[in-house]
Amino acid sequence: MIYKRSSALFAEAQKVIPGGVNSPVRAFNAVGGTPIFIEKAKGAYLHDADGNTFIDYIASWGPMILGHAHQPVIDAVVEKAKLGTSFGTPTEIETKIAELAVSMVPNIDMIRFVNSGTEACMSAVRLARGFTGKEKIIKFAGCYHGHSDSFLIQAGSGAVTFGSPNSPGVTQGTAKDTLLANYNDIEGVKTLIEANIGEIACIILEPVAGNMGCILPQDNFLQKLRTLCDEHNILLVFDEVMTGFRLAKGGVQELYNVKADIVTFGKVIGGGLPVGAFAARKEIMNHLAPLGPVYQAGTLSGNPLAMAAGLAMLTEINTNTDLFKSLEDKTEYLHNGITEALEKNNITHTINRQGSMISVHFTDVNVTDFETAVKGNNDTFKRFFHHMLDNGIYIAPSAFESWFLNDALSYEDLDKTIEAIASFKG
Ligand SMILES: *Cc1c(COP(=O)(O)O)cnc(C)c1O
Repeated sequence: MIYKRSSALFAEAQKVIPGGVNSPVRAFNAVGGTPIFIEKAKGAYLHDADGNTFIDYIASWGPMILGHAHQPVIDAVVEKAKLGTSFGTPTEIETKIAELAVSMVPNIDMIRFVNSGTEACMSAVRLARGFTGKEKIIKFAGCYHGHSDSFLIQAGSGAVTFGSPNSPGVTQGTAKDTLLANYNDIEGVKTLIEANIGEIACIILEPVAGNMGCILPQDNFLQKLRTLCDEHNILLVFDEVMTGFRLAKGGVQELYNVKADIVTFGKVIGGGLPVGAFAARKEIMNHLAPLGPVYQAGTLSGNPLAMAAGLAMLTEINTNTDLFKSLEDKTEYLHNGITEALEKNNITHTINRQGSMISVHFTDVNVTDFETAVKGNNDTFKRFFHHMLDNGIYIAPSAFESWFLNDALSYEDLDKTIEAIASFKG
């Protein structure tokens, strides 16, 4: 493949945009090389500035579950745009998408729309604190909840149980209110709660993790968290920015039959426009301004273009009764094909999968938390990534991301992907 035009565009971009990108993972720092600049996309395919075509497994990091430029979504946005793009007043379409989302997702009565997953998670934590009157939160190493200060925290050293900043600019004061636990380690969570009795407002997690590869909750981890939260008057927050409307209509709450107190959304809910949302039962949502004292706002929140895209997307998902089965079948097919291809070449690997999320880890250990996720061989991943790219397959440029399948992928696309993997010699 030739990436001449992409290289030129990247050089220009770097002069005026830090690192040439508006979100760091796009920069290819983890895999080396020059990011490719995409010009357009349709269905399962991305077309770059040099005229190359790629089968896409990133789906814009999740949203494009039906494939790119899905016609009903595009039509809805185009029609809405003709009527004006933002009024700063309520509009009917906000109620329509809210009603639909509330009807699809279990245990929520009300939903508030924001502009990103980051905002949704940041607001959910503020709401949990405002509702419980407590200040500390528990998060899990390797789970990503956006880039707001409370989440940019790593495990503290030695005996201290509170976290420390993992980005300059996050204060020690903020870090001390975020406690770090390991994914799937229920005993660790118990220990943290016991050391901070009466102080923890919420536990937030990706109920199926997608930001350290795809990691599934083991041994009733979610049910056990639910029980602990009930015992200690702690809110359970499911960050379903990645999994919401992707793994099931009702997300992981439905899939694993566990109730969350607050749920956050992003990605699919916006159909490719900047949308996030957080939702809960009435008793909790009543605490939000203007009904209650917990402040949260947004000039462009619920703006008509974003809501039109989101409503069209959710309507498609709600009416397409075969969608999740179809995605699961395709992902299972790919899983089997990848296993066979890697085994043929004696390449050590572990594959995790849930629904349309799948990740390939170049290690032979079970990947169940951040610690085991980092055991993957990153040099092998880098070579694998560039091998795939050169064969016209676009996977995330980081070993810590899952692949997201979209329903526009055909079995022929999957076969081409498996063929490319079979020609990877390690
Ligand atoms: C992407 C993501 C976020 C952040 O969403 P943005 O829209 O990028 O701010 C939060 N949580 C999870 C689980 C995500 O995957």
